[in-house]
Amino acid sequence: MGCVARMSGGWSGSQRWRRLPPNWRSEIRPAAHARNPDHICHLCGQPGGDYLDHINPGDDHSPENLDWAHDCLPPHCHRYKSSAEGNAAQRAKPGRRRPSEQHPGLR
Ligand SMILES: [Zn+2]
Repeated sequence: MGCVARMSGGWSGSQRWRRLPPNWRSEIRPAAHARNPDHICHLCGQPGGDYLDHINPGDDHSPENLDWAHDCLPPHCHRYKSSAEGNAAQRAKPGRRRPSEQHPGLR
């Protein structure tokens, strides 16, 4: 679990934790573990997923919508998924690259 906390504040403003139901840790996560004890990652198909992912983003916490993914652990499948979702917004920004102006002979 430590990975998220150790990340330099990347998740501190995230709403995601707040949206998790109160029984997330006590029931939902253990139930997902029981269904998939190897934590097979639904993104790459390899075992060892450390993150219980919502397949359809949102507030659907039903078992059918939850599956494991690699987040802190390589190959970090879930991060690629999240960054793909986030990049759509970032790509709208124009890359502003000003050629640095030279003032020859200014002195
Ligand atoms: Zn994976």
